[in-house]
Amino acid sequence: MQPTQFIWLNGSFVPWQEAKIHVLAHALHYGTGVFEGIRTYATAKGPAVFQLEKHLERFLYGASCLRMQVPYTKERLAEAVVATIRKNDIKECYVRPIMFYGYGELRVNPAGCPVDVAIAVWPWGAYLGEAAITAKVSKVIRIHPHSSATDAKITGHYVNSMLAGLDAVDAGYGEAIQLDYEGNIAEGTGENFFMVKNGVVATPPLGTILAGITRTSVITLARDLGYTVEERPLSLAEVLKADECFFTGTATEIAGIGKIDDTEFKDAPGPVTKRLTDAFKTIVKAENEKYMHWLTLVNK
Ligand code: PMP
Repeated sequence: MQPTQFIWLNGSFVPWQEAKIHVLAHALHYGTGVFEGIRTYATAKGPAVFQLEKHLERFLYGASCLRMQVPYTKERLAEAVVATIRKNDIKECYVRPIMFYGYGELRVNPAGCPVDVAIAVWPWGAYLGEAAITAKVSKVIRIHPHSSATDAKITGHYVNSMLAGLDAVDAGYGEAIQLDYEGNIAEGTGENFFMVKNGVVATPPLGTILAGITRTSVITLARDLGYTVEERPLSLAEVLKADECFFTGTATEIAGIGKIDDTEFKDAPGPVTKRLTDAFKTIVKAENEKYMHWLTLVNK
């Protein structure tokens, strides 16, 4: 990780090295936090934050799932994100807001714990590398939708993701694909999953998966480009016969999958994946007027 100068912590800027919490903070013990991953792109119009409002809506939704009394409005949080990017004088970065139950009491019930909020920014390149990804279908299934609010980005959920990811890496693959409790494809450990067959784009429905902002953006973009997009359960057998598969995510962006278990997808990323990637790039670079409302310009 490449540190920047300042982290926004509970309303003020503190030097990166001093943004610390107590070891008895509730979230450290019980995973009771929510977070976001947001990308800021360098554009001809200056730094531009991709889908800031949608990310903050998901952030606040997650906080409501954990029954947090949030000390800030969405507008205030948006200002804080922009201020943190400006304060660090950074042109292109990953933005990590986090909100969690802090130090107070240590019962599982968080009553008596403050809600702490932090925002950090730092440079982060291609998350899964530039080459086509190899993915292993993990034995560790995605958490059951009745076990938690699976569509929220809750810190504790990532134990499940980490275990699946480590399994895949141990077996020599780049990333894991998790199945849902019914055995259908759910998602990657930090990405949503898409497949293309005969020009039709398909992706698992909401329910078990994280409601990815890139997922929604890519669905909109694909439909705008004339593709049919289906949100429906995808079996592994169907996916292995697909023409193309790809992941979407803030860190990952759009990334072609070259292999799932022993099945290879030759010449990945395929033509539809490439077309979506090219269109996505022009949008995040503020080169497509039609989608400018997806961007928040830092220097207004
Ligand atoms: N699924 C999981 C489990 C994730 O952690 C992420 C990353 N936030 C995604 C999907 C993709 O979501 P987004 O496009 O909002 O980054």
